[in-house]
Amino acid sequence: MSSNDQENSLNFNTDWSYSPAPESTDHVTIKDRYDLFIGGEFVAPASDKYFTSMNPATEEPLAELAEAGAEDVDRAVKAARKAYKQNWSGLAPASRGKYIYRIARILQERAREFAVVESMDGGKPIRESRDIDVPLAAAHFFYYAGWADKVDYAFPGRKTGPVGVAGQIIPWNFPLLMAAWKIAPALACGNTVVLKPAETTPLTAMLLAEVIAEAELPPGVVNIVTGAGKTGAAIVDHPDIDKIAFTGSTEVGRIIQKALAGTDTRYTLELGGKAANIIFEDAALDQAVEGIVNGIFFNQGHVCCAGSRLLVQESVADDVLGRLKDRMETLIVGDPLDKNTDIGAINSSMQLETINKYLEIGQQEGATMHQSSCALPDKGHWCRPTVFTGVAQSHRIVQEEIFGPVLAVQTFRTVDEAVAKANNTPYGLSGGVWTDKGAKIFKVSNQMRAGVVWANTFNKFDPGSPFGGYKESGVGREGGLHGLKPYLQLA
Ligand code: NAP
Ligand code: MG
Repeated sequence: MSSNDQENSLNFNTDWSYSPAPESTDHVTIKDRYDLFIGGEFVAPASDKYFTSMNPATEEPLAELAEAGAEDVDRAVKAARKAYKQNWSGLAPASRGKYIYRIARILQERAREFAVVESMDGGKPIRESRDIDVPLAAAHFFYYAGWADKVDYAFPGRKTGPVGVAGQIIPWNFPLLMAAWKIAPALACGNTVVLKPAETTPLTAMLLAEVIAEAELPPGVVNIVTGAGKTGAAIVDHPDIDKIAFTGSTEVGRIIQKALAGTDTRYTLELGGKAANIIFEDAALDQAVEGIVNGIFFNQGHVCCAGSRLLVQESVADDVLGRLKDRMETLIVGDPLDKNTDIGAINSSMQLETINKYLEIGQQEGATMHQSSCALPDKGHWCRPTVFTGVAQSHRIVQEEIFGPVLAVQTFRTVDEAVAKANNTPYGLSGGVWTDKGAKIFKVSNQMRAGVVWANTFNKFDPGSPFGGYKESGVGREGGLHGLKPYLQLA
């Protein structure tokens, strides 16, 4: 080969973009309409009203869902109470475990279908729903199925018993996974539940209702009512609910806390976050950049524990930012069903508005905005990965949760300064520390006022690990042995 030929062959294919690789939807049947799942049956809402869930990537309607009013919530609570008294609370714990195992196994069998529907209804990349949401949801059912007949050993010397009927309200960012987080420990401890999924992502909850019916759980042990905020409020206000488990915004968390003040209803609240990812100069920088990308661009930044603040040591700040911007250019934004997609659709037009509002605010506050140059699809709700530099601690984009793929970058010089900045927030859900010094990991993670601190990694979950926040990020813990406690009476 002449040197000219060699040059030509090297220049030959300069377009390294991937060909489309969409996941097939052939095996998925989404019904035109879903009713409420109450007492083991699918029933129409008293009002006969239905709302539509959209696909945020195509802006096309997917299905109609029943809008549950107070009357329907009351029916669901009565069904849950009946099942609690007549059956579930008195059942041998090992038998409860068997039912929960069945749910886990059917979920695994239908994993591909669940992943596709999750991506269609909520906009998250199929790679995430397939590799994270659905397997983790099944893992939660497996994990808590194992606890069902061992609960007494979890709290030695104490007598354990169920709490009663749990009302569970979940958000749209991890629809199936949040349902699993809520339902699995409640059932393992002998409680029955009324669950409300978010208005924009109810479909996998309705598929889960089918799974629960297929697993032949006694009627009324799990009831699923769809609707908007009003349906959630009807659950919170129902006098025969013994425990509320809520995951969502700090704003609604406050409303719930006020509504329950002075009552004997127990509650756990998993709320917002504004986590700091701290990168020290001695960190493996390429790995750290992957951690930043995973921390804030994963699931479009629709993650309560997202690493939405980057604190980078001044000596490596330019280097890290350069690497980050290069990496951002390679991220693919687009069709959630494409296996190459890194960043899917923003969940709703309302959420896109919120994110865009913060992009404006950030610029008005004087920060410098950098976005990747990728093309966006014509239809649907999208946001390019975005980084703000030149931000001050007092800026709203540093203090407030944006819940989108938007990173605010600050620098620091000393360990103490990094910790002080990380903790200077009303939230305290999670954090990250990147360094090759073990002692620094222990020092910093001990000083961070956050429920979860990842070291040299980010956004990793396991059913055995407790999860929950400090300060305005919530009350109580879910997951692991800690996650049993809110669903038990301990004597
Ligand atoms: P949200 O508006 O608080 O909604 C959460 C759930 O509460 C939804 O099902 C919602 O119904 C319902 N709801 C709304 N108003 C209610 C009321 N007055 N009473 C009872 N229920 C009510 O939160 P989101 O915007 O869906 O989710 C994003 C938020 O969740 C973020 O702040 C995020 O940080 C947080 N989050 C926290 C965790 C955690 O573990 N800490 C995990 C995931 C998400 P509709 O959606 O149908 O209106
Ligand atoms: Mg939807």
